[in-house]
Amino acid sequence: MASDSFSSLSIPAAQIANLDSLGYTKMTPIQAQSLPQVLKGKDLIAKAKTGSGKTAAFGIGLLNNINPRFFGVQALVICPTRELADQVGKEIRRLARFTQNIKLVLLCGGKPLGPQIGSLEHGAHIVVGTPGRLQDHLRKGTLKLEGLKTLVLDEADRMLDMGFFDVMKDIIAQTPKSRQTLLFSATYPDTIKQMSQSIQRNPITVTVESEHKASVIEQLFYEVKKHERNNTLLALFEHYHPESTVVFCHTKKQCDEVAIFLRDHQIEALAIHGDLDQRERDQVLVRFANNSCSVLVATDVAARGLDIKSLQAVINYELPRDPEIFVHRIGRTGRAGEKGIALSIFTPSEVVRVNAIADYQKKPSICDVPESLDRDPAFTLQPSMITIQLDAGRKSKLRPGDILGALTGDAGLAGSQIGKIDIFDMSSYVAIERSALRQALNYLANGKIKGRTIRARKIR
Ligand code: AMP
Repeated sequence: MASDSFSSLSIPAAQIANLDSLGYTKMTPIQAQSLPQVLKGKDLIAKAKTGSGKTAAFGIGLLNNINPRFFGVQALVICPTRELADQVGKEIRRLARFTQNIKLVLLCGGKPLGPQIGSLEHGAHIVVGTPGRLQDHLRKGTLKLEGLKTLVLDEADRMLDMGFFDVMKDIIAQTPKSRQTLLFSATYPDTIKQMSQSIQRNPITVTVESEHKASVIEQLFYEVKKHERNNTLLALFEHYHPESTVVFCHTKKQCDEVAIFLRDHQIEALAIHGDLDQRERDQVLVRFANNSCSVLVATDVAARGLDIKSLQAVINYELPRDPEIFVHRIGRTGRAGEKGIALSIFTPSEVVRVNAIADYQKKPSICDVPESLDRDPAFTLQPSMITIQLDAGRKSKLRPGDILGALTGDAGLAGSQIGKIDIFDMSSYVAIERSALRQALNYLANGKIKGRTIRARKIR
């Protein structure tokens, strides 16, 4: 039985102290299984999901291989989405705190190339990025991977689903054969097996049990006729009253239609899918995270990498064909021991999917009919917060404290009326209690933040 103490690993004492300061007192199962192998330089296939501590499982390993005195890219982490890359970058930066001289650069799409090129020119030890943008930099010659020691593919299955196979192959072809390759994937279809065979050497495989205990997530399946999906969806909201929910759909069009349907019924919902541009996507995520939108209607691909802390419910508007995707979807609720509900709508022709899920989970799928739901027709879901967008951000050196200071100072709002503040390069978002919206906008129309007039508008 492997030890679960970080001190059993051959890593610097300063790193163990750093982990301790982060509150990482013992290894999570994926770390305990992976790290001893990773630190020996072995290739690895790890079947693990977000929430399992997988980032530290590869992060601690790749940091151990970095020579800070060599100013070249020594570790590359490829992620399917910008959100995941952001999250991974943040976690590796925390893990790198034990030493001073390690530089990490994020290379994601939706951002201008210029500053990324500047950062690379200053020398980066670690690069975290999304496939398309990494390929752009390789083509331009602004990213060089000859000195790479560790390659990580995070959520490799999703990258294949998103059609990144050729791009990934192209990137990997530009790395040295001597590299260590760590492949993380939530599922393990044949395509991943084949990919592993073409890029890894004698990989060790580790699997951890799903990080959520089945008992924490209550699962129910509702059988409906084809044209009853929308009405049943509404019935689920009117019965369960979930405050934070992701509704999963198959197609982008369906996401848009379902979000409109919910909004027409006084349930504040936003669609998120691949057709949104980066700015729209940022806005949707900001509003969901700052409690000014309670429901996201998403495709699997768009939901991937979302850093969603505590979802009360996951609703499957349609069931996926692959039961692993189902388990992955519902794993977004009931995190950290909180109780979550997973509600699924299916039509008679989709019973095979319900059965496949039962086989996969080795427990019966509990089915019900929507008529059994007690409905509260007066139910609405209008969040208490609303988001204001300011047309200034990091580039104008605006910080959260400046916005908070102006709104609680001259504008006269109470601190408790102001929620999360998100600063982007060119704009910022602040969540305001609905009741204080007028007051905040009136002030911003005439008043100043940091001595300048900043345009502000409510986003809807
Ligand atoms: P991940 O699966 O990498 O997204 O990690 C999930 C969360 O677990 C992150 O917030 C990490 O900061 C946290 N975490 C990772 N490893 C540990 C550990 N050994 N002990 C406590 N928390 C951890």
